[in-house]
Order: sequence, then structure tokens, then C-alpha cells
Amino acid sequence: MDACLFCEIARGKTKTQLIYEDDEVAAFNDIYPKAEVHILVIPKMHIATLNDATSEHQQLLGKLMLCASQIASTHNKLGNGYKLIMNVGKGGGQTVEHIHLHILGGKRLNHETN
Ligand code: 5GP
Ligand code: ZN
Repeated sequence: MDACLFCEIARGKTKTQLIYEDDEVAAFNDIYPKAEVHILVIPKMHIATLNDATSEHQQLLGKLMLCASQIASTHNKLGNGYKLIMNVGKGGGQTVEHIHLHILGGKRLNHETN
């Protein structure tokens, strides 16, 4: 496997600051935010796309959702809610092949296209 950007970020090998981390999940701000708040939540384990996930990953995928909810619930700009998006594959707009949830919220949130 070629070096994976999000694996590197999760391992703390880049300048990207983690805003949440536990043994299985990490979160950080998107470098090109599409909304006032744009956070990416990733499993530390490399899984390229949702379509590469299996029943073995069921607990981890559930945890990813709950971590996103927990991060959002403690964020002062997400009190009114947020969007949670996962792009899957090139056709779904996925550009980084390591599963990630987008938390989008605050101002500049476009309900038509996000
Ligand atoms: P995707 O299009 O794969 O669903 O989302 C990938 C996201 O990763 C994009 O929103 C993009 O802005 C973000 N991204 C790409 N490279 C980097 C990076 O080096 N650091 C951070 N923090 N985000 C990145
Ligand atoms: Zn990876």
C-alpha cells in the first residue's frame, strides 16, 4: 500500500493537530473547509472505502458515528445540528482513500449540495 495521508495524520506524523483521539478513532479539521465547521473523523485502522468494510468492522463503524456525535455535541457552533457525510468511492466524491466522516456545520452550510 502507498503511504496513506490519513494514516499518517492519525499516527501524529504530520503537522495536523488532532482535535479528538482515542485508541481507535481520530478527528481533525479539514484543510479546505466547506462550512464554518468542517471536521473529519477517521478510524485509525486503514480501510480504503466503506465498500471495503466487512462485518469485522461493524463495531468500529458504529464507534465512528458515536465519536462524531460526541465531538459535535461538545462543539459550541454545532448546537443546532450538523451534517454527517461519508463519500464512497470516486463516483461518490471520495478523494482520500481512507474512510472518513465529514462533520459539517455552522455558517456557510449549503443544504442543496453537501
Ligand atoms: P473526500 O472528498 O475524500 O470525502 O474528503 C477528503 C477531505 O480531506 C477533503 O474535504 C479535503 O479537503 C481533506 N483533505 C485533503 N488533504 C488534507 C490534508 O492534508 N489535511 C487535512 N486536514 N484535510 C485534508
Ligand atoms: Zn489510511
